[in-house]
Amino acid sequence: MTKKVYIETVGCQMNVLDSELVIGALRRQGYDLTDTPADADVLLFNTCSVREHAEEKTYSSLGRARPHKHRNPDVVIGVLGCMAQKDQDAIRKRAPYVDMVVGTGQLAEVPALVEKVKATREPQLAVSLGRADAGRHEVEASFVSYDPTRDPTMRPTPFQAFVRIQIGCDKFCTYCVVPSTRGPEQSRPPEHIWSEVRQLVDQGCKEVTLIGQTVNSYLHEAGDRRTRLSDLIAGMHDTPGLERIKFVTNYPKDMTDDLFDVVRELPKVVKYLHVPVQSGCDEVLKRMKRNYTASYYEDMLARCRERVPGVAVTSDFIVGFCGETEESFAKTVELVRRSRFKNSFIFKYSERPGTKAADRYPDDVPEDVKKRRNNDLLAVQNENSRADHREQVGRVVEVLVEGPSRHGERVTSPVKQLTGRTMTDHIVVFDGTERLVGQTVRVAVRDSSPFTLYGDVLTEEVIGVDGEDLPAQSSRPRTPRFSLPLVS
Ligand code: SAM
Ligand code: SF4
Repeated sequence: MTKKVYIETVGCQMNVLDSELVIGALRRQGYDLTDTPADADVLLFNTCSVREHAEEKTYSSLGRARPHKHRNPDVVIGVLGCMAQKDQDAIRKRAPYVDMVVGTGQLAEVPALVEKVKATREPQLAVSLGRADAGRHEVEASFVSYDPTRDPTMRPTPFQAFVRIQIGCDKFCTYCVVPSTRGPEQSRPPEHIWSEVRQLVDQGCKEVTLIGQTVNSYLHEAGDRRTRLSDLIAGMHDTPGLERIKFVTNYPKDMTDDLFDVVRELPKVVKYLHVPVQSGCDEVLKRMKRNYTASYYEDMLARCRERVPGVAVTSDFIVGFCGETEESFAKTVELVRRSRFKNSFIFKYSERPGTKAADRYPDDVPEDVKKRRNNDLLAVQNENSRADHREQVGRVVEVLVEGPSRHGERVTSPVKQLTGRTMTDHIVVFDGTERLVGQTVRVAVRDSSPFTLYGDVLTEEVIGVDGEDLPAQSSRPRTPRFSLPLVS
């Protein structure tokens, strides 16, 4: 009988990619993926530690897996990723039936560790060194970037893929666990990345999203050759068959003009930049150790919009960080009002043991105040999102069709509601047949909500250029059926 593996993933794109790669490796060992935990021989939980809520989610899932393990003692339960690196022994204290704890830097070992658990029934722990445990080189070497052969069947869509270009982070924002859970910042050699992109494109991939915690800090030095993110992008841009290049997440201090120039000049590069500011108050930014002021960020934003006309910018915010007064929060609200982000991800501060903020500053903003600030900021952002989306109405946009919308998935007729994204990362919903999935089509935008555009696919005769105004707007308004939440 085929062996089955189940995986649950919490967290960022990096975790989504790690899960794809781990499952790809286990499939090569003869495992089939199942979405039913009770059918699985191996249950994996790929975890996130950025907020306490994410950790609690994993502990709840582990609790639900316990009866399955109790009934089937041969089942292997593994905790992977950031929590594994951060909590190590603590996980087995709280969930003693966990068989493997595998950090972000040891994912390549998962298939062998599964076999070892099966053979020995002994718990397995594989994690990297802590950042203060040894010299930089040794710690770096213990965090191994996991970049095996790609398996297109492991992705939700074979024509879109994440590509890791960097691991770790050296920014040490005081609130954040990432520098310890993912280790020192290390950029992959450009040749490895270009070769992975060529392999993905040969497998039918049309869009790559380059990922790193601070992707625009990417720098690879070999002898006297320095490769920056802009060089890396330019080096893959002409890959035949590749249609779109995205990259996330950007650090505001590293938004250099060479990067703006490739975004403007190279047609396959998406005109969309995610550049989290976190707060609009200088004192808060200082306590966060973000290394810039609000006016530095706003100058960067102005430069970005001047050098890349039509660019869409999005941001992250933390509300209720230590010592955030009503006055400091008001500065964040005003920054959001002025900045016209396409959308923002807003998080309530979650104190993370082991971070500088947890050591130095009391978590002194009450939960109900954090919640209110979250809602207030969201309301201001939503006004901007509505205006931003309304501006797109009447335009013709290029959409890479991703699949049926949530509504479309339930429809049985050949014409379904489909969804895709524009070159500025706007979500568009329109009617079409599933034959369009994976294709780039021109869509005339006729209506909008704060998070979604609604449109009609153009026939060949009416194709215009991206962003060109239509002669006349359709007046067929439609009830929005699909939206993305702003708070995750
Ligand atoms: N490296 C990216 C950057 O600096 O912009 C973001 C990485 S982090 C995984 C994603 C977002 O989570 C951050 O931008 C921040 O807004 C949020 N975040 C990180 N630590 C947090 C904490 N302790 N509490 C609440 N939100 C947090
Ligand atoms: Fe965390 Fe700051 Fe690094 Fe982003 S830049 S991963 S928020 S330490």
